[in-house]
Amino acid sequence: MRKKIVAGNWKMNTSISEGERLSAEIVEKSKDVDGVLLIVAPPFTHLTKVADKLRGSRTALSAQNCAAETSGAYTGEVAASMIAETGAAYCILGHSERREYYGETDETLNKKLRQCFAGNLSPIFCVGEKLAEREGNRHFEVIKTQLQNTVFNLEEEDFGKVIIAYEPVWAIGTGKTATPEQAQEIHAFIRKTLAEKFGAKACETSILYGGSCNPANAKSLFANGDVDGGLIGGASLKSDDFIAIAKSF
Ligand code: PEP
Repeated sequence: MRKKIVAGNWKMNTSISEGERLSAEIVEKSKDVDGVLLIVAPPFTHLTKVADKLRGSRTALSAQNCAAETSGAYTGEVAASMIAETGAAYCILGHSERREYYGETDETLNKKLRQCFAGNLSPIFCVGEKLAEREGNRHFEVIKTQLQNTVFNLEEEDFGKVIIAYEPVWAIGTGKTATPEQAQEIHAFIRKTLAEKFGAKACETSILYGGSCNPANAKSLFANGDVDGGLIGGASLKSDDFIAIAKSF
């Protein structure tokens, strides 16, 4: 059976000590959260400190990005193997902010996917359409192309380690959430698309919804058969909200 997952993308927020406090609160408050994998993704600088706080808990650690190369003269980059050394087991890839502000292309993402598997990290791979694409009724085509150009290139064994996050760009940080019907429609489409390439294995893939998910709307989103949890931005910075979302299944 596929996993239910709630992952928090902290983006470029919190000082290291705030991040330590937030992760300690999450560990404490998640003790009665059952059957849901929690993941937190702090900035790189916080990973080792947050790993200390999470040790022995049921909350796992993720990075928000990794380098496209293994090692060497790539100033400012952090390799997947270095991330794994901190205790992280996951890495967000393909977030729309990386695609939009840092020019990440499908080609870069293919390299990063390879680095994740070589470094023993499971990718949380984001796809999603922009507002104009949704309004032009091109969202299915856009998402299919994003998957075909990246995840479709994986070996079946590696595909089994991937978590998909559907994040409509128009819903990220805007307070506009996809309706439960819109989320289910696209999640089912993503699963069908993945099944065209990977067959029954796509039934085991966790597909998370991301985009202004909060304690008030999480329940109606997670109630849908193909919505296996959430990738949470803003609401993951408050432990009470993050835990309330994790309790929304
Ligand atoms: C995100 O950036 O992954 C995200 C879902 O952000 P928010 O929840 O703030 O919309």
